Amino acid sequence: MAKLISGKEVSSKVKAEVREETAELVKKGIKPGLAVVIVGNDPASRVYVNSKKKACEEVGFSSFEYALPEETTQEELLELVSKLNNDDSVDGILCQLPLPEQIDENAVINAIKPDKDVDAFHPFNVGKIMIGDFAFLPCTPAGVMELIDSTGVDISGKSCVVIGRSNIVGKPMSMLLLHRNGTVTICHSRTKNLAEICRNADILVAAVGKANFVTADMVKDGAIVIDVGMNRLENGKLCGDVDFENVEKKAGYITPVPGGVGPMTIAMLMKNTLTAAKMHNNLI
Ligand code: NAP
Repeated sequence: MAKLISGKEVSSKVKAEVREETAELVKKGIKPGLAVVIVGNDPASRVYVNSKKKACEEVGFSSFEYALPEETTQEELLELVSKLNNDDSVDGILCQLPLPEQIDENAVINAIKPDKDVDAFHPFNVGKIMIGDFAFLPCTPAGVMELIDSTGVDISGKSCVVIGRSNIVGKPMSMLLLHRNGTVTICHSRTKNLAEICRNADILVAAVGKANFVTADMVKDGAIVIDVGMNRLENGKLCGDVDFENVEKKAGYITPVPGGVGPMTIAMLMKNTLTAAKMHNNLI
């Protein structure tokens, strides 16, 4: 039976560290600030934005919410981003994705000043992640790294398989594992022999977006299985990409959904915002 990796516990530790450092900054008159922009009425986005605001309160940051109507134009949003870029009380800017279809997401991501891009989506920060010399962590993959590290297992030399190659999760995830000397295979919808490749993984990260995609026959005995997926079932229940009930019996370690990667993403966002505040005050 796999040991459960608790994202709640690991994320609490990360946030406690951020809170401690923030308290020291506040003594120096520096209060990190995160601006969160939400456009439209997507209920899932609203839940994420509320969790981010709550996390800001927990760690002692200022949070500024900008809730714009669904019909906001790209020009209006870019204007707001420009204003936030020039606002010294704002260290980090986050535009909750997805944006309505009249807005080009890339145009918005590219408009955020790289030193305020706490999601690490700007091409400048993506390039830095590729090189391995980065200030901002790609939040979800960095959260996954913390979860893997919490097991005490050394990634170096391990066979790591990432299912998914998105810019937000799969690609940066693979880079972080590679920087830690994992031997990384990236799988996607055109991959042949996917199950066989997965069965070889000491560390398997699923970022597909399909419920019960990873079944027990795809998992090596004792493997670390990290489930990034967040899928909403018809009954409203949240579940990951992994058939938890059966994979749990085979894996060495496994993350639950909810309570696994989700809370980590927010904790790493807090860490990035703290880094931005330190950068803006010449402390790093
Ligand atoms: P995405 O952009 O839709 O990417 C999904 C990836 O899965 C793609 O690379 C796709 O391959 C691959 N894929 C789809 N069907 C496949 C198949 N049958 N076999 C192999 N690969 C397949 O999604 P994402 O943004 O990376 O997110 C993935 C999941 O993670 C979603 O459930 C999302 O909600 C969740 N997520 C969670 C967090 C968190 O904080 N916990 C954060 C971000 C995302 P192709 O490239 O070939 O199409």
